[in-house]
Amino acid sequence: KILGDKKSIKITNFNDLDLIKNFTTMKMKNYITKVGIGYDIHKLKKNNKICKNTKYLKLGGVNTIKSYSLLGHSDADVILHSLTDSIYGALNFGDIGQHFPPSEKKWKNYDSSHFLKHAVKELYLRDGRILHIDIVVITEIPKISTYSYQIRKNISRLIDINESKISIKGKSNEGIGAIGRKEGIAVFTNSTLSIRELDDC
Ligand code: ZN
Repeated sequence: KILGDKKSIKITNFNDLDLIKNFTTMKMKNYITKVGIGYDIHKLKKNNKICKNTKYLKLGGVNTIKSYSLLGHSDADVILHSLTDSIYGALNFGDIGQHFPPSEKKWKNYDSSHFLKHAVKELYLRDGRILHIDIVVITEIPKISTYSYQIRKNISRLIDINESKISIKGKSNEGIGAIGRKEGIAVFTNSTLSIRELDDC
């Protein structure tokens, strides 16, 4: 005897379409849309002497310029940190500092793509997916539009989503304040996720 699956419905008559509709809404009912916000800022330091082994300033995992460095415990990738926190935010799962405390030596100079992958893994464990990512980078240097294509491509590769779901915009601070004086780079990120709601209450 071969056991069938009640969900395997044969569509013969027009009325059979109603059955399918019921199954689709049943499945969709458990999914809701959540938006998380992430923010990060790191100090910029001017490199007066550029040597062969001077590291590139990394943004979104992409090498940009050598004339300035971002200071931080890990690789100081301010875009990846902000993006990671936005996903944790939508999951209500703390923040990057909680999962990877700067007090721990092992995260020193760590590649921030691992932090991002951790957040995405937590999302997949909850049967979720990313609908859209919107990133705003506030800085005077480097010019974000020069690297935005590469950054989108790299993030798309890191978390395996289509580039069309990743938006990245650079904003100058019009010379105002610390960011205007090229003392730092700040990033805001909104991540929109579709996630299964476990508790109906
Ligand atoms: Zn950071």
